[in-house]
Amino acid sequence: MPTNAPDTISLQCIQCHRSYPTTEVRYVCDCGGLLDVWHDLEALRPRINRGLFDGRLSGAPGPKVVPTTNSGVWRYREIILPTTVDNIVSRPEGNTPLYEHPRVSQYAGLSDLYLKHEGENPTGSFKDRGMTVGVTQAKIMGATAVACASTGNTSASLAAYAARAGIPALIFIPAGKIAAGKLAQALAYGAHTLQIQGDFDDAMNLVQEVCNKLGVYLLNSLNPFRLEGQKSIVFEILQGFQWQPPDWIVLPAGNLGNTAAFGKALFEAQQLGLVDRIPRIAAVQAAGASPFYQSYQRSFAERVTVKANTVATAINIGNPVSYPRAIRTLEWANGVVTAVSDDEIMDAKAVVDSAGIGCEPASAASVAGVRQLVSAGVIKPDETVVSILTGHVLKDPTATVDYHTGQWPNAQFANAPVKVEANLAAVQQALEARL
Ligand SMILES: *Cc1c(COP(=O)(O)O)cnc(C)c1O
Ligand SMILES: [Zn+2]
Repeated sequence: MPTNAPDTISLQCIQCHRSYPTTEVRYVCDCGGLLDVWHDLEALRPRINRGLFDGRLSGAPGPKVVPTTNSGVWRYREIILPTTVDNIVSRPEGNTPLYEHPRVSQYAGLSDLYLKHEGENPTGSFKDRGMTVGVTQAKIMGATAVACASTGNTSASLAAYAARAGIPALIFIPAGKIAAGKLAQALAYGAHTLQIQGDFDDAMNLVQEVCNKLGVYLLNSLNPFRLEGQKSIVFEILQGFQWQPPDWIVLPAGNLGNTAAFGKALFEAQQLGLVDRIPRIAAVQAAGASPFYQSYQRSFAERVTVKANTVATAINIGNPVSYPRAIRTLEWANGVVTAVSDDEIMDAKAVVDSAGIGCEPASAASVAGVRQLVSAGVIKPDETVVSILTGHVLKDPTATVDYHTGQWPNAQFANAPVKVEANLAAVQQALEARL
């Protein structure tokens, strides 16, 4: 059994604050509460400063991948998962760009809008940042198999990282409700893929039962180690802004793992003195899958669940796992929650795509959310905003092609292919009409 648990981390219940050693396989507290990987911030404070992380930026990529140099997750390892380099399973991930484009800024109604493109991670979504840490922890624990339920990107990522680690992966997906690019990845990376007759929430319940009964290591976002890796999105943003934070970070919200991770990262960054102030968070749901937004509107007096239905499959979730952790983020980061329609999502996606950047539908919820919050006066036009693009444009080709070929009735920016006869005159005629 593993013995090399670092002394600065433990598992801590977010409700009753009971703590457990990280050498124990455990996903929830005995009281039923969700767990955090809790860092001893007092012990870390003297060891961590801006210079430590800035010094690691200069590492030029050598002929070999060295996670501690090449990964935008493991750069922050002291505050994510302190471990030795030979335990680390990395592709490597992170170091994603911050794009700007006048058309996207104008569409959102802002002068300073940045798009942090998490779709440019190794398997095409931010899930890689969590999975490198989750699979590393699985390896540390000596796991014989790993599993997740997923709307797609989690399974694509788990399949890749498990293959890298040489650990078998079990993937539970809702039959027929997964985008083509994501299913292709799970199969290609060699995962054992089980299609469940039911929706995501059914798959989620089943995988937990399987892990508890069959001793498989669970890598859904219930697993707190994944959220530790996802914190690095925020650390990269803060560092990218030379530790002078933007005013807002806006992100799509489904299972609320990222919303939870962002709040924890901001809390820790401030506690450790990396920044003097922190950005506000805006979590954006799809209107057809907006239980968190509906709870927010009722000041969290009750936990709403819904039957989810949105084109944005990555956030098509009716009963988000990290709900209590996400409420904490709103408190820590003076956050707001909103919801946008599928039409708004697909139009925002078309704007991002046509800027040559591109993203999957769920990602565009953040840009649609920025636009809505600006027009509602919540975000001021002169504020600096980072909007997170969570997934790659190739993840869901069906949604994109449908939008541009007339299957999306309200499309504002459709770019349909033009049918022409195979001769020069026909091409000239077609071009004259368009240019
Ligand atoms: C997982 C995912 C989300 C939702 O993130 P949560 O942490 O579940 O809220 C959004 N967009 C994409 C592309 C994703 O893969
Ligand atoms: Zn507890």
